[in-house]
Amino acid sequence: MSNNIPNIRVGQGYDIHPFKDGRPMVLGGVTFETPYGLDGHSDADVLTHAICDALLGAAGLADIGHFFPNDDPKYKGINSQELLKEVAKSLKERSFIIGNIDAMLIAEKPKIAGSIDQMKSHIAASANIETDQIGVKATTNEKLGSLGRAEGIAALATALIMKI
Ligand SMILES: [Zn+2]
Repeated sequence: MSNNIPNIRVGQGYDIHPFKDGRPMVLGGVTFETPYGLDGHSDADVLTHAICDALLGAAGLADIGHFFPNDDPKYKGINSQELLKEVAKSLKERSFIIGNIDAMLIAEKPKIAGSIDQMKSHIAASANIETDQIGVKATTNEKLGSLGRAEGIAALATALIMKI
């Protein structure tokens, strides 16, 4: 890339996990008191996984599954904030700073609105940025398809990063 063009880069992330009874429900590092959670090898924090992939993609790195394989016992049940910290560290090592992250949860349940500020605090702490650099929004799938039937939760994320 030419030296006089600012090295601003964008990345996108997507993730989806199915609901499972008796599993923890962790979204953006916040644990919800629900009898069901999300199934997965780690804590299945779908929002944090999408954010990790957006950051990795923006840096031109491989996806989250490459760095934290879901058949590696090391990551079984792991708090995904630890994965986000690793991703933020990888970016920092490559001289990237994070401009902002915007993310969207697509879920019929649980009720998310009251926990968004707390999610932003967790994500900001893990990514080593300020809460006003993070957007977290939630919507339903209007009862359409698997997400609409409340079979799981999906998340989308976009990240803007700059090389310094
Ligand atoms: Zn995931």
